[in-house]
Amino acid sequence: MYQPVYVSIPYTVLTNFAAMKLYNSFNFVQQLDTNDPLRSYRDRFHHPKLNGQTARYFCGNSLGLQPKSVKDAIAQELDDWAEHAVEGHFKAKNPWFNYQDAFAEPIGRIVGALPKEVTVMNALTVNLHLLMVSFYRPQSKRFKIVCEAKAFPSDQYAIESQVCHHGFYPKDAIIEVTPRPGEHLIREEDILRAIAEHGESVALVLFGGVNYYTGQAFDMRAITEAGHAVGAKVGFDLAHAFGNIPLELHEWDVDFATWCTYKYLNSSPGGMSGIFVHERHCNSPEIVRFAGWWGNDPQTRFLMEPGFVPAEGARGWQLSNVPVLTMAAHMAAVRIHDEVGMERLRAKSLLLTGYLEFLINDVADRSQVEIITPVDPEKRGCQLSLFVKRNAKELHSALLDAGVITDYREPNVIRLAPVPLYNSFEDVWIFSEILRHHLLGKNA
Ligand SMILES: *Cc1c(COP(=O)(O)O)cnc(C)c1O
Repeated sequence: MYQPVYVSIPYTVLTNFAAMKLYNSFNFVQQLDTNDPLRSYRDRFHHPKLNGQTARYFCGNSLGLQPKSVKDAIAQELDDWAEHAVEGHFKAKNPWFNYQDAFAEPIGRIVGALPKEVTVMNALTVNLHLLMVSFYRPQSKRFKIVCEAKAFPSDQYAIESQVCHHGFYPKDAIIEVTPRPGEHLIREEDILRAIAEHGESVALVLFGGVNYYTGQAFDMRAITEAGHAVGAKVGFDLAHAFGNIPLELHEWDVDFATWCTYKYLNSSPGGMSGIFVHERHCNSPEIVRFAGWWGNDPQTRFLMEPGFVPAEGARGWQLSNVPVLTMAAHMAAVRIHDEVGMERLRAKSLLLTGYLEFLINDVADRSQVEIITPVDPEKRGCQLSLFVKRNAKELHSALLDAGVITDYREPNVIRLAPVPLYNSFEDVWIFSEILRHHLLGKNA
């Protein structure tokens, strides 16, 4: 149905390894796939079916694909539960008592943290609240939260309700940094200026690492510095950054962060969340937190005595014992991610996303499709958000009819995430061919 085009338009994309010339041709696409060092990982995942065919999936920023290894990982825990029941806490192949500790090192590598600065627990919004309990401690003069406009709704609700919980009014306490009129992206200078301007009234700076809508990645180091310069705490919601872009949370001196793992980490719908708390806060007596038995020092946890003694590091924020089946899925996914490593993932990601961008610009002009995600590869992960000027919904359905799954958001935005772990260069090329047909057809 989609004839290969052999027009060759050279374009240069800067990747980690080299500047590379790109062409819009099927031969070139095949070359890219053949030379892709990560190509075998595509087959480690279940790809969904549409109309009886394997779909081309671009929604890994919403829900990552299921690693084939997940089923056995969960079956192992079910078997151990059947065989050992409560004794599984110590006798399971992966003893449940300290199952969560096995995440510390690989997740530390993903977010750039010391192992003790991270742990897995709860879900993302719950963790945002728990971390705000510790790091949003407003006082009469210092009570504001600086955040991004159009943050994911759950983050907006969490921030608003925390502000109200402390007896402040959202309209006074929440400082949203917005894009300038007519622009889609938030300028970094505007974020830094807002923090400086509100100065000592800022209690907390809470930003996304990568905005879910535009795909804009923020300069977390600069934001952290600016927040600390006015004496505020700084935290990040890394839902769209975790496993997508390189992170150095410890090095950047971030106070806290949290993420979900069902997006780029492929760890099951509604799966495990995780947190980062900087070493300097972990066991500081100044830190207030909500406590539960699983955050107590494991040495004394089963003495079941009053008087909470926090475990070392981020584990001290754990409230409840951790859902083992969910952790099993997460562990299977983390293993794959860790085997590849952020560096190789990012190298492919830069090329794959750069190639998609090149193809879109080749088949559509700006009066038809505007890519609102930053052009600078350092300012984005693997998502491109397309503002489709006309008939975006029709394009979305045409894509579905052709077996391509993308995400549609009002108004007229199609979000695409070519995920380096399992998407191919052919996937992005097929997308661009459908886009080309759409724009040539009656809907253009
Ligand atoms: C996906 C996402 C969430 C989802 O929150 P849950 O608590 O996992 O349901 C929250 N915030 C952001 C920024 C997200 O991208």
